[in-house]
Amino acid sequence: MKFAVAFGIAAMLLSSTAPAASVADGVKADMPQLMTIYRDFHSHPELSMQEVRSPSILAAEARKLGFQVTEHVGKTGVVAVMKNGPGPVLLIRADMDALPVREQTGLQFASTATGKLPDGTVTSVMHACGHDTHMTTWIGTARRLAAMKDQWSGTLVMIAQPGEEVGMGAKAMLDDGLFTRFPKPDTMIAFHDSASLPAGVIGVTDGYALANVDSVKIDVKGVGGHGAYPQNTKDPIVLASRIVTALQTLVSRENDPSQPAVVTVGMFHAGTKQNIIPDDAKLELTVRSYTPETRKLLLDGIKRIARGEAIAAGMPEDRMPVVEVSDDMYTPSTFNTETLSTHLLSLFQQHFGKDRAVASKAVMGGEDFSRFWLADKTKQSTIFWVGGVPKAKWDAAGGNVEKLPSLHSPFWAPDAEAVISTATEAMTIAALDVLKKS
Ligand SMILES: [Zn+2]
Ligand SMILES: [Zn+2]
Repeated sequence: MKFAVAFGIAAMLLSSTAPAASVADGVKADMPQLMTIYRDFHSHPELSMQEVRSPSILAAEARKLGFQVTEHVGKTGVVAVMKNGPGPVLLIRADMDALPVREQTGLQFASTATGKLPDGTVTSVMHACGHDTHMTTWIGTARRLAAMKDQWSGTLVMIAQPGEEVGMGAKAMLDDGLFTRFPKPDTMIAFHDSASLPAGVIGVTDGYALANVDSVKIDVKGVGGHGAYPQNTKDPIVLASRIVTALQTLVSRENDPSQPAVVTVGMFHAGTKQNIIPDDAKLELTVRSYTPETRKLLLDGIKRIARGEAIAAGMPEDRMPVVEVSDDMYTPSTFNTETLSTHLLSLFQQHFGKDRAVASKAVMGGEDFSRFWLADKTKQSTIFWVGGVPKAKWDAAGGNVEKLPSLHSPFWAPDAEAVISTATEAMTIAALDVLKKS
């Protein structure tokens, strides 16, 4: 509580004195250059854990600004440290990876890049999640904070993280000593561009902000045979269909309705021909929740239902479904700590006005930014949203996001200027506040 009051007073001072104005002016002056950097990132997207060009640009920029820079942390991550007197340690994170999506925005600087997925498939690559705006903001923020070094005290740790889209990068950086080889942060902040807010509007969520994301595969075994003689088979298509239907009751009948949960069967593959009963059917699911308890209920329930339906179908013990919960693809839910998230919202509201900084709902997407706070839950952590939907498009859709391209869409073309300028300003005033001189 005391913490919150102290924060509040500092915020009031900040919003009414010179630094706030000079942050806005500094960002404005930097925008033409930052937009050039953004367009370059946008047209050179790189797949997860294969980031080479992007981190080298970020590392070079940070070095030029006087940061101590270490590359290849967690394979391709960058850690840039600026020690500037006594005070807390603040971590600011941007993610760098793009997606296997063929861009269809029609932008002049649209990506025509291709890349190779881990299985060797060649794919188009696009910054369809807006991580190019994150990297550009990282540079913009580093520039501001380096230029305003006399106005803060403490240690700034700016990290560029690989592999967010595959949920591997944050873990890779932590495993590579992010919190042991470098100053350990007291406060961690990140932002993500948003396809659900108009351009330049900031959204801050208190508490759970993004979900636990689990990927589950079910190999539903059967006993195949001729389609004309079902009595001699155990049909895995019928069994898998029952499993899919029964899974719907996990959320509707077993889960506490006040606890968000999603079970989606996104893939169902079986069979080769109309008159053959196949040997197996394959299902793939995405499973989302916020709390560990709900996550356990869903994952245990999936295993129980798969086995139970197989028993009901008369499947022999050696042909029971195999349920595989992927550890590699698991992303834990992202939690915004109350002290920091409520403080940042009021700080942003004072700086930008209440129209441009709003409390926003939690979503069922995932973010591996969660892992940094989970590594030490005594610390403060928040990820906030910065709206990217161009104003004209937002107005034309009447604010109905279902009519607008989402993140990961080949048509996602944010108002990058609004995202980058807003996020750079927000990140800079947040940093000046956290690292205020005592
Ligand atoms: Zn994404
Ligand atoms: Zn993203």
